[in-house]
Amino acid sequence: MQKPSKNTVLQVALKVPFAPYLDYLLPEGLQAPEAGVRVLVPLGKNKRLVGLVIGHSDQSEHKNLKPILEVLDQQALLDKHTLEVLQQAAKYYQVNLGEMIFTALPAWYRRIENRPIPHQFWWRAKGEIEPAKTLLKNAKKQQEIFEYLHKHGPLQSKTMSHISASAAQICRQLQQKGLVDCAEVCFLENDSVKDPGFQLTADQATALGQIQAQSDQFQVHLLDGVTGSGKTEIYIRLINDLLAQNKQALVLVPEIGLTPQLFQEISQRINGQMAILHSGLSDGARARVWQHAAKGLVDVVVSTRSGIFTPFKNLGSILVDEEHDLSYKQQEGVRYSARDLAILRGKIQQIPVVLGSATPSFETLNHAISGKYQWLKLRTRTNQNPMPSLTLQNTQSKHFIKGLTAKTIDAIDVHLAAGNQVLVFLNRRGWSHKLICHDCGWVAECDDCDAYLTYHKHLDLLKCHHCERRYSLPEFCPQCGSQEVETMGVGTEKLADGLAERFHDFAVVRFDRDAVKTPAQWQKNLEVVRSGQPCVIVGTQMLSKGHDFPLLSLVVVVNVDNSFFSTDFRATEYLAQLLVQVSGRAGRAKTKGEVIIQTQFPEHEFFQMLFKANYQTFAQQQLLERDAMRFPPYTHMAIIRGQHRSERVLDEFLQKLANGMQQSEDISVMGPLPAPMQKRQKLYRMQLILNSNDRRSLHQTIYQLKQLPLAQGEQQIPWFVDIDPVNFD
Ligand code: ADP
Ligand code: ZN
Ligand code: ZN
Repeated sequence: MQKPSKNTVLQVALKVPFAPYLDYLLPEGLQAPEAGVRVLVPLGKNKRLVGLVIGHSDQSEHKNLKPILEVLDQQALLDKHTLEVLQQAAKYYQVNLGEMIFTALPAWYRRIENRPIPHQFWWRAKGEIEPAKTLLKNAKKQQEIFEYLHKHGPLQSKTMSHISASAAQICRQLQQKGLVDCAEVCFLENDSVKDPGFQLTADQATALGQIQAQSDQFQVHLLDGVTGSGKTEIYIRLINDLLAQNKQALVLVPEIGLTPQLFQEISQRINGQMAILHSGLSDGARARVWQHAAKGLVDVVVSTRSGIFTPFKNLGSILVDEEHDLSYKQQEGVRYSARDLAILRGKIQQIPVVLGSATPSFETLNHAISGKYQWLKLRTRTNQNPMPSLTLQNTQSKHFIKGLTAKTIDAIDVHLAAGNQVLVFLNRRGWSHKLICHDCGWVAECDDCDAYLTYHKHLDLLKCHHCERRYSLPEFCPQCGSQEVETMGVGTEKLADGLAERFHDFAVVRFDRDAVKTPAQWQKNLEVVRSGQPCVIVGTQMLSKGHDFPLLSLVVVVNVDNSFFSTDFRATEYLAQLLVQVSGRAGRAKTKGEVIIQTQFPEHEFFQMLFKANYQTFAQQQLLERDAMRFPPYTHMAIIRGQHRSERVLDEFLQKLANGMQQSEDISVMGPLPAPMQKRQKLYRMQLILNSNDRRSLHQTIYQLKQLPLAQGEQQIPWFVDIDPVNFD
């Protein structure tokens, strides 16, 4: 054992799968960097990697330690709380600490070249126009910039690039003359806070009071409120409480598209600094938000799931909007749940966590029922509007016009004529569902995946929605040579086409991954809707979330019947959430809403339970079944997934893992089973499903499994563990 002197061994977490951290030497004369600081280290023969110091020691089990190459941060990038969250998360999700840390870090901080984060200063004019003009009479550009700032400020210099390409430099000159102020974050204008001046509903007041009563400790609150019941209002008041105590808030939303909306709603109501964080921002911008939050320069961060790792100076609470949303679960790399980590973080930091939803996940509901979470119910809409009325349209033996029954078409007609907007929801993009041969029954499938191909009319191509591989349209059936090859089923493209044809006096806007690829397209579509003209909005699940379309009075849901044939035990939970969420979009404003669901099974007990009663009754009933069947949330699940070109090799490998598992009464192991989608991008996919009554023994089993010695060939087989999986595909 090597015996370096005191604290000269640095424990450095790296993005490598083989060890939680590696030991490095501190070069002589250098002061030991604290935990949370990034360092540059050598690895192997000639690799250099960014690592994060997690601790010190005066000894190491390893010989011939290499010295670190460079210290990259002056101060710890991650505070001890955030580091603690990552440490516990790594254990929970059974990944190495380094993998967890480098999943959390914005790309900027993972780079080897250590450039400072570019600043984007805010500028504000000081004093009156006239004296400044006199002072600047020989400096034309400075005068122009000053006047512009005086009129429109505060601004960032990039917004003034139309006046001068060197606006930033000119601002500096003005600053030297004492004519402008400069700040790292936008100046706060005291008088900009709008108070809508309404009184809280009784439900709101109770809920708010209950959260406020425990504002200095860890407690999870479930804000279980129907759409339009004023959950956002409660977030806003809580945030204002926090600001008054100089604390910060983290608000999580499920998708990028929802960040601007919530950001705006909150920013109009608080006198604090706000920042948005999501993957659509540049690397530098994301790093800047981290920096500002850590320094305490921003008060509120509104973010998608990755924001859960943001370091804060003084975090006071975490609010998770639409907590049931599956987007909170990362589906690649480290498969973490941002909602669950919010709770872990709340516990570590001893702060309250608020989960909001109109359709809480069964996991969350279960904790609310058991009393582990505080259950706060908002049962009335703030505008006293009744919930929308519901009709189930039987689609069996009905006449169809591009996917819609005649009755549905009539209803759309009525709502448009009344000057309202209509949403038609269909969770399938493209023109058709499949391409089939009427003579022999051949169906066009992807060569690389276990999936049908979708026809896209505007491209005149067949596309695989799982690997995006494209195929030309066959003129003859490749199996029997028949010409009777036809598309079957309806996608959003065909639906929108049919609607545009039938309702040619109205705009038809389509929201799906083909029609909306950029924020600009999203914005353009949104403008049509926001213009207030009657129109038809066609959309996939992109639109099922909290987007607020106040003029919608009719929501049509086109095809949901697949869920009834799903092998996923959560399929009906997800369907119920989707239907309630989509229905909630109808009639948020003045008009009474109407919802039409087209289904082959209008008599299905699912609909009876969900709509004759309500989501909560439905959920409680389903939870009883989950309990009886011993499924989550009453058990704990993990999936081990592998993929390989050879089905046989994969099967044998997973069988070996299954055999290698310690027998335990607590755990049932299913598989190896083919994944519901057996093949994707030429690779076979199989899984082992572990279900346990006891979380600890499940974790022990997996931990021990990860230590299992593998033969040379087996080491090449990609496999991973998904803890608390939310789907099985
Ligand atoms: P949720 O987030 O539960 O769907 P929101 O918070 O968006 O609901 O509230 C719906 C609408 O009701 C918003 O326009 C909001 O400004 C308004 N609102 C909220 N609370 C009240 C209240 N107590 N009285 C009147 N209007 C309210
Ligand atoms: Zn054929
Ligand atoms: Zn494919």
